[in-house]
Amino acid sequence: MATVSLKGLTKRFAETAAVNDLNLEIEDGEFVSLLGPSGCGKTTTLRLVAGFIQPDGGEIRVNQEVISSPSVLVPPERRNMSMIFQSYAVWPHMTVFQNVSYGLKFKKLSSGESERKVERLLQLVHLETLKDRYPTELSGGQQQRVALARALVVEPQILLLDEPLSNLDANLREEMRFEIRRLHDEFKITSIYVTHDQSEAMVIADRICVMNQGRLEQVGRPEEIYERPKTRFVAEFIGKTNLLSGTLEEGKRISLGNGLMLRVGSGENFRNGEKVWVSIRPHDLQLDREESEPEGYVKMGFNLFYGAISRRIYFGESIDYLVELSGIDLVLRVITPPIKKYDLGQKVWVLVEPQRCVIVGER
Ligand code: ATP
Repeated sequence: MATVSLKGLTKRFAETAAVNDLNLEIEDGEFVSLLGPSGCGKTTTLRLVAGFIQPDGGEIRVNQEVISSPSVLVPPERRNMSMIFQSYAVWPHMTVFQNVSYGLKFKKLSSGESERKVERLLQLVHLETLKDRYPTELSGGQQQRVALARALVVEPQILLLDEPLSNLDANLREEMRFEIRRLHDEFKITSIYVTHDQSEAMVIADRICVMNQGRLEQVGRPEEIYERPKTRFVAEFIGKTNLLSGTLEEGKRISLGNGLMLRVGSGENFRNGEKVWVSIRPHDLQLDREESEPEGYVKMGFNLFYGAISRRIYFGESIDYLVELSGIDLVLRVITPPIKKYDLGQKVWVLVEPQRCVIVGER
């Protein structure tokens, strides 16, 4: 059982504020992911939680007790946390069984009890038939399973994972995401998972913390982060998007220039007359090839643009188009299922519901 609280957490390396006034409350049993581009401070945050480095400001509490601050540093071995690294870090001279049981050496357990715990973990990570092999006789995915079993067998309060799947090939990575989530559902250990891979974070985490330049840009469930990005950075970093700039006008409308108006679903946090960005996901745009305005969509309140297909890429499960709009210097990316196909140069209507047009702030 462990809650983790980061308050005003700050860590500087010379001029760089690697972590800058970061605030985050993690619930007991929650799985959060720190997600962001290279250098945004994810690993430094994790290392602060692990106790490998000390903050310059702020504090970390576990179950209300301060474990890190500029004046307190509980050593890593007394934090009851396990950490899993990108490099697996399994002992090459020990078998799978010995690797997993290693951490239990320091716990006062009978050999029978210890063996039972190791056997159970090996079963859970599907390594029971490979327990006598050495790491050099295992694939990367199997080695990472050993690392997972070794981290879990000591029953830590908190599990820290630093890009644990980065060294695996794409297929294995996908499989292991589900595996990690399954193990979490089994053990319910409060977990923090660092990654720069958004789909990994989406599959694994209860909540995603998007980081940018040492700060938290947005924290939320995967759907919230994807469907309601709060900032331009989040909209662009999570998934593909069309970012349009314009001026907010009365009645939740955005003037895009040249008389073109876009109705949006929200805008409460912005003032009329304010310059804003609007994020529209390529999957939320639809295409229609009618000669005249598709009346049905107009009646339903859809936004309507007219343009021509300027690029078309066939991906099997979808087709990725660029549409150059008429009357305005604007190109929209549209991704549609391959049921209806449109040719290069073909004139099309581009349609989108106002609710799928999300205003985002600069920061
Ligand atoms: P990546 O995904 O590339 O691992 P990250 O988001 O984990 O990146 P950090 O490793 O936390 O980022 O680094 C954040 C910033 O702090 C970077 O600018 C990095 O260069 C700097 N930094 C990290 N560790 C040190 C260190 N020991 N000494 C000096 N600067 C450091």
